[in-house]
Amino acid sequence: MSSVKPTILVTGGAGYIGSHAALVLKRAGYKVVILDNLVYGHQDLVKKALQVELVVGDVTDRNLLDHLFKTYDIAAVMHFAAYAYVGESVKNPGKYYSNNVVGTLTLLQAMLAASIKKFIFSSTCATYGLVETVPIRENEPQQPINPYGASKLMVERILSDFDKAHELKYVCFRYFNAAGADPSGLLGEDHTPETHLIPLILLTALDKRESISIFGTDYPTPDGTCIRDFIHVTDLATAHVLGLEYLLKDGNSDVFNLGNSNGFSVKEVIETAKAVTGKEIKVVECDRRPGDPPCLVGSSEKVRKILGWNPQYSSLEDILSHAWQWHQQRHG
Ligand code: UDP
Repeated sequence: MSSVKPTILVTGGAGYIGSHAALVLKRAGYKVVILDNLVYGHQDLVKKALQVELVVGDVTDRNLLDHLFKTYDIAAVMHFAAYAYVGESVKNPGKYYSNNVVGTLTLLQAMLAASIKKFIFSSTCATYGLVETVPIRENEPQQPINPYGASKLMVERILSDFDKAHELKYVCFRYFNAAGADPSGLLGEDHTPETHLIPLILLTALDKRESISIFGTDYPTPDGTCIRDFIHVTDLATAHVLGLEYLLKDGNSDVFNLGNSNGFSVKEVIETAKAVTGKEIKVVECDRRPGDPPCLVGSSEKVRKILGWNPQYSSLEDILSHAWQWHQQRHG
């Protein structure tokens, strides 16, 4: 007997993490429908690399959602569509609360109206705020220090209330630093504007930028630069499929960190990038960037134990060489 896998709606599936999740879902045999407003997403990647159905529209559009849920037989929703620039969220919080909170609420209400009660949510380690504990566990108090983190925490609270009131079952993943690209070379990271460390280093290696700035060399860390927990985007995507399968087997709502429990400093990332690319990368030491905690590393014990997550690409070399393959092809 062949087992036909259900259809999953992936919001934000034309973006960085959503597109990788859509690819891993497709490889696992699920049917995928993407909803993306294409403000930051890439239509060409959906068409060429993913070849799945794309509905162009916004999660704040209730009529569109009602129509979508009538048209497709959706078993669960993976919700990636969100704004995610911390600095912008401080300058324009309304944009973040409107899209990230009101948009998600609209989506959840449309789901309930269509009796769809399984939900995977992209949350963030930014919900913890300034934590000194290493590694951070899921039960650490959450005190976000910017509107982006606050918007994600508000949704976590809404989800908990919707479970109690409406039996909506969810898995929340709190991401640490997603990085890298699918090993196939089909997908990768392409943000405009780009603010993340690894793409900026690789764009410098490609001579698209003159230098990479190190934001702060006087942190209380072994080499003075910030430490982050980089997680390969394909490992991150795989966790989402495990979370989905857990919910499809009637698992209870739960929250998981997604990191490697392993931190690398900004200087270590730059040195490894030099080795992986074989290029000289010009470095400029600058002042600290406001709001950067010295060290952010997440415990992955819970996701390994409960969802059986076992990352395949946890070395910095793997993360950087897959990202390098992608950047050379996309921007070279
Ligand atoms: N960073 C840096 N130079 C850059 C971009 C980032 O030194 O051009 C540092 C940043 O201060 C932080 C780390 O790299 O300590 C990771 O930053 P990113 O923006 O990639 O991710 P975040 O940790 O803010 O989510």
